[in-house]
Amino acid sequence: MSFKSFELHPQIQAGVEALGYEEPTPIQSRCIPLILNGRDVMGMAQTGTGKTAAFGLPILQRLMSGPRRRVRALIIAPTRELAEQIHEAIGQLGRKTKVKSVTVYGGVKQNPQIRKLREGAEIVVACPGRLLDLMDQGVIDLTGLEVLVLDEADRMFDMGFMPDVRRILGRIPARRQTLLFSATMPEEIRDLARDILTDPVTVQVGEAAPVGTVSHALYPVEQHLKTALLMKILDRTDTDSVLVFTRTKDRATRVAKSLKKAGLPVTFLQGDLSQSQRQEALNGFRQGKYRILVATDIAARGLDISRISHVINYDMPDTVDAYTHRIGRTGRAERTGDAFTFVTREDRAFVWEIERVLGEEIERRTLEDFDYTAQPKPGGRGGRGRRGERDRVEEAPRPQPPPSDLSVFAAFHAAAGFPEKARKVTLFSTPRSKARRVRSAR
Ligand code: AMP
Repeated sequence: MSFKSFELHPQIQAGVEALGYEEPTPIQSRCIPLILNGRDVMGMAQTGTGKTAAFGLPILQRLMSGPRRRVRALIIAPTRELAEQIHEAIGQLGRKTKVKSVTVYGGVKQNPQIRKLREGAEIVVACPGRLLDLMDQGVIDLTGLEVLVLDEADRMFDMGFMPDVRRILGRIPARRQTLLFSATMPEEIRDLARDILTDPVTVQVGEAAPVGTVSHALYPVEQHLKTALLMKILDRTDTDSVLVFTRTKDRATRVAKSLKKAGLPVTFLQGDLSQSQRQEALNGFRQGKYRILVATDIAARGLDISRISHVINYDMPDTVDAYTHRIGRTGRAERTGDAFTFVTREDRAFVWEIERVLGEEIERRTLEDFDYTAQPKPGGRGGRGRRGERDRVEEAPRPQPPPSDLSVFAAFHAAAGFPEKARKVTLFSTPRSKARRVRSAR
């Protein structure tokens, strides 16, 4: 299939070609004709599957006719980074069309956003809170709205935005086309979809998209050795851009500082940074000034950086969804990538959970020449000690492990100090059929 089969306006087709897109991705092939036909769509897809163009191209096509300089499409996204990315992607696809989009999100001054709205834009890409503020102030006119997109709806729910989203929904025209995208479909999102979509078509692609293009490996390690192990891996692995995830803001900063001290080109992204600091870190990482970005989940949500070769989970994520989301940062748009996850004793049951969902065991790796038995330095920041407790966690507390799995993990971690043995230990015996059942039930 080629983009030509969609018969997009020549100015839009030119944007597609300028971006070098040769063939539509699966979600694009399935969504674009439906959306062009005016259907409501519920898209189950991860970021990284090409979903921005899947809704962006038909929106641009619609806007090529009809009034200009009034808001006709609204895209709601959970984070300002994602809003910026969508805005940029639409700007690139529509660069020849003179269709304008503006971003609306908090944490920055509102006046420049209001000014841009007044200058006339057809597309608004917004985070819910600031959008509601501007609606309350009467500075945004949505009476001419024709298309609404809710992107990463599950993340919006996780982040507590649903009441805001519902308030917005109550104040925009009911006669409109609605598109809802979500990587997962928890009950709350299904309820929302039932309420707001009219006769929708469900399009599901790449349930295992990041999994298919990403190879996974687990690195058992004591908490206090994680930074040393990270340095060793970075030193010996051929990497392009590397995204390292930590559980807390302080740890993101601290790990980045340690790597920097060791002479590595690194920056960090966490929720306490100002918008300009975030932008500097992101731009520097995108443009290759920094090869390594250390980030927390919330700060890194929705990041679109196409050259990430390795995602390293310095700390285990809190949920399987978060794991899938993190590794979705690599292996994007049919590239391949590696996802390495450091696992400590505390993570054992969670590893089991991830493997159940993936439907396969993840390879365990140990480095021959790494001293897994080294003790924490006296006075150093060993493990989840007091210092760890003072860290501000950006994510929800981790669910408790199911007790049945503990003995297996105990064996695993006992072996972690002995590299030769660790590789030989078969840890999990979840039957694949059971794993698949679990997966298909999700
Ligand atoms: P998204 O899921 O929309 O965040 O897109 C992920 C990445 O894939 C972005 O870097 C896009 O520019 C890229 N992309 C989207 N569609 C295509 C396509 N048809 N061919 C090649 N790359 C694409």
